[in-house]
Amino acid sequence: MDNYSSRLQIIDDSVLDEQSTLVNFIFDNVSNMIFTVDQDKKFVKVNQPAKQFLQKCNATNLDELYDELYITDFKGERVLVDKDPVYSVFQAGSSNNTEMCIHWKNGKKEYYYMDAMLFQDSEGRNFAIGILKDVTDYINLKELNNKYQKKADELINIINTISEGVAIVDSERNYMLLNPACDDIFRYKTHLTQKTDFKVGMTFDYAKVMDTDGTPMKPKELPVFKVLEGETLKNRIYRIQIDGVMKYISFSGVPIFDSEGKVEYGVMTFSDVSEIQRHQQRVNQQKHFIQSILDGLGTPVATISYPQYRYELVNDQYCKFIGDLLGKEIQKEELIGKSFEEAVPNHYAKAFMLDADRMLIKDKDKVRQVLEYKDFNNEERCYQIVQSPITDEDGKVIYITAVGIEVTEQVKAKKETEALAKMKEEYFTVISHELRSPIAVVHSAIQMLISDAYGSEFNGSTQKMLSRIEKNTDRLLVLVNNFLDITKAEAGFMNINYSPVQVGGFTEVLLESLQPSALKKSIKLELVNECKTEIVKLDCEKYERVLVNLVSNAIKFTGNNGLIQLILAEDNRNLIIKVKDNGIGIPAEKINKIFDRFYVVDDYLSRGNIGTGIGLSLVKKLVEILKGQINVVSQVGVGSEFILQLPKDPDLN
Ligand code: ADP
Repeated sequence: MDNYSSRLQIIDDSVLDEQSTLVNFIFDNVSNMIFTVDQDKKFVKVNQPAKQFLQKCNATNLDELYDELYITDFKGERVLVDKDPVYSVFQAGSSNNTEMCIHWKNGKKEYYYMDAMLFQDSEGRNFAIGILKDVTDYINLKELNNKYQKKADELINIINTISEGVAIVDSERNYMLLNPACDDIFRYKTHLTQKTDFKVGMTFDYAKVMDTDGTPMKPKELPVFKVLEGETLKNRIYRIQIDGVMKYISFSGVPIFDSEGKVEYGVMTFSDVSEIQRHQQRVNQQKHFIQSILDGLGTPVATISYPQYRYELVNDQYCKFIGDLLGKEIQKEELIGKSFEEAVPNHYAKAFMLDADRMLIKDKDKVRQVLEYKDFNNEERCYQIVQSPITDEDGKVIYITAVGIEVTEQVKAKKETEALAKMKEEYFTVISHELRSPIAVVHSAIQMLISDAYGSEFNGSTQKMLSRIEKNTDRLLVLVNNFLDITKAEAGFMNINYSPVQVGGFTEVLLESLQPSALKKSIKLELVNECKTEIVKLDCEKYERVLVNLVSNAIKFTGNNGLIQLILAEDNRNLIIKVKDNGIGIPAEKINKIFDRFYVVDDYLSRGNIGTGIGLSLVKKLVEILKGQINVVSQVGVGSEFILQLPKDPDLN
């Protein structure tokens, strides 16, 4: 006998000696625990399961048991030893199905129903008998069931409140659940008032059911049948006309299989997508409308998604244009949805995308590029492609529109103009050379003839003739030079060559070369240099042409013994050159015209100053090229002053 068994003094033979071996066998082999307790709370007889239980608690009486275990009813209310249902039998009599929850120290809980009764042996001694039925599994299952029921209730609540129609159908095609949104969509409660159970296809009793094209459907064609056959369906759209209102219904469904793989239920969702569908229809109509307009345009147009670079929209002309690029016929369907790189030749795609990136990243504006290629008939064609961004409400670029404008003729014309301009320039070079050179040769030869070295060899009248020839070749040279220069300037072939020049010295040398003409009329020609800046950036050739013209005019229109001053001055930005004479002056009403080409003030003809009216127009042109200004102040009989302004640093202007 083990220690525990020796402490548990079971009164057997003396108390229960009448029990048969059979009763003992049953007593020990029932699954319920049976305790017998005397009035001192001591266990006097326990069966095998009860013994094992008490052994675990190391208890020989109720006090020890209650010290070891925390015992409550099913609600969690603690039960103390004096209220123990078995012990209570001595005072209160029998009890049935008392709930007892035993909390083990390791946290495990066991649930029991206890029957307690009083027993009196043949000698009149009272014992309490307690029989405990283990209902732990049953209670746990009940709790689990409650939990699931709660979850299921919550789920049903959710299903009932969502705006999408949710329905569950069994394999017999009976609806087990239809949430209120289903009725909102199908209005079956209004139409099927007599019915209490609802079946698949019931809408056919009161509504027209069609596929998206409007073709009537048979009940068997409803997508729910497919679900009941085991298929999963997503967003199938069909039409239904209820009470004269056309609805578009989007249907999704999944089958639920039983353990044998048969469809037990179908779970379906319905949503009314009429608004979306109508909107889609409107969008399609608009798309069609825009497409017709685009196709009617004579120019290629394409819309490309950004940054995916996929064709969204193209017109007939664009297909033709891409067809020409690729050397084959292209249909719209071959472009729409395709990426730009897939659709067009690589170099063209790259150029386009590069331009688009530049446009979107840097300029955020349109870009233009000219594309040259040979078409089907091997003819040169040029298109100017204009790309512009289309943005969403947040200003993010989502599309790029490319419009092609055929510029073949313009490009051709431009090329021809450029070729012509080049020819003209060559012509000027040749003509200048051919005209200037012989005159210059004749001029210097005559100057030699009238010089002191040869002059004495000719008699008086020959000398007079020679001097007239010299004067006229001189004029011819000036005229030819001026004429060629102005033509060249007006044709836009005049190049500017700036170099730093010591302006005072350079102007002085220039005046020196004009002294002989002044001397012939005993005119005093002097330089007044008030300019502090010494070095100025000048195009010497043009500066010389301007001054020579102005001073020559001054000499020409000033009488003998006159005075001509060239005053060099400056302000912050400009060099100021004044050519001032005390000659015949220019009438006020003519002063605005003297810079016009071929304009001469008539009076002077009578005074023998034959002019061509080219000099000042050349001066004006050259001053313009040099980014300067020229003005004149004059008074008849008093003199004229030409005021010229040239920027000291032409790069700043
Ligand atoms: P051209 O000297 O060959 O006639 P320009 O174009 O140089 O042609 O001059 C146009 C006209 O302006 C001259 O014909 C002349 O009447 C007038 N003109 C130019 N400079 C002076 C000046 N310093 N004094 C008076 N008249 C002038």
